[in-house]
Amino acid sequence: MSVTLQADSAELAGLLTRKGVRATRQRLEVLAELARERDDVTAQSLWRRLRERGSSTGLATVYRTLALLNEKGVIDSLSHHGTELCYRLCTDSHHHHLLCTKCHRVVEIEQCGIDGWIKKVTSRHGFVATEHRVEITGVCGNCR
Ligand SMILES: [Zn+2]
Ligand SMILES: [Zn+2]
Ligand SMILES: [Zn+2]
Ligand SMILES: [Zn+2]
Repeated sequence: MSVTLQADSAELAGLLTRKGVRATRQRLEVLAELARERDDVTAQSLWRRLRERGSSTGLATVYRTLALLNEKGVIDSLSHHGTELCYRLCTDSHHHHLLCTKCHRVVEIEQCGIDGWIKKVTSRHGFVATEHRVEITGVCGNCR
């Protein structure tokens, strides 16, 4: 678990640059707000939080920015609440997710543990695995 809460903006700008995304003020603003969140957040509630801080960034811009950051691999998108996507700033290395279906709790699982099984099933069908995602949905300790 190494999501840096209150990450400084130089650190976030460096992250964007590494991923080939130009570090504009609005992108940094969205990313900094995401960095404050332990779990994940929808575009709507991220936008609401920015407004509470006095930001004038529009909802459409927040949606667009989150989609871009996700596409460039800066942030993860998670689906555990129907059709509305949630977003999270995770660690930069390979990991999986535990997701609560009742609240927005997300736990990052850093141990993969399924590489051997993936190699076995893919080679059996003549595939070479290039990537995989594992999301375990359930009910967290607070919601049970
Ligand atoms: Zn993640
Ligand atoms: Zn929960
Ligand atoms: Zn969520
Ligand atoms: Zn894995």
